[in-house]
Amino acid sequence: MAISLAVLAYLAFEDRPKAIVRWTGQLPGPDLMSVERLIQSVLPQYGLYETTVTSARRTSRDQARIMLGNFTRKGENPEYLRSLYRNKTVIEALLSVPYTVEDWTEVIDGFAKQGIYVSSHQTGKALDFRVRDLSAQMRAALVSALAHVARLIGGRILDEGDHIHLEW
Ligand SMILES: [Zn+2]
Repeated sequence: MAISLAVLAYLAFEDRPKAIVRWTGQLPGPDLMSVERLIQSVLPQYGLYETTVTSARRTSRDQARIMLGNFTRKGENPEYLRSLYRNKTVIEALLSVPYTVEDWTEVIDGFAKQGIYVSSHQTGKALDFRVRDLSAQMRAALVSALAHVARLIGGRILDEGDHIHLEW
């Protein structure tokens, strides 16, 4: 992540209220510390004092398991995957093999070894935020706050319905 002047300005005000970031999986490594600190600083400006990260860095197998789970829930509709993921080559390769975690892991891992990723979670440059415990107003505030964080780090957010995805 490039540390912009805007990011430095945020981190300079250490006496401001901080939001608590909870991690349901493994704790963030050093690479995520600066993003975590930004989230802690930006969320209180939107009236939010805690948030839960449900997914960060993923192995090829994690990615395969999650994609296959969503694909199955969507009735194995190829258009669901084609519209959600930007890398069409990987998606078409997944659709051409049996719909199992083993087969999908092999495809995703084969591409990853060539530096081709279907998700920024694979490189540790994405976070998913829980929304199920938020009111509509708090959910909207979280979307605005994460869009603010995304602007500061040159990233973007995707509202995926059951969670908000931030990537950079
Ligand atoms: Zn995500």
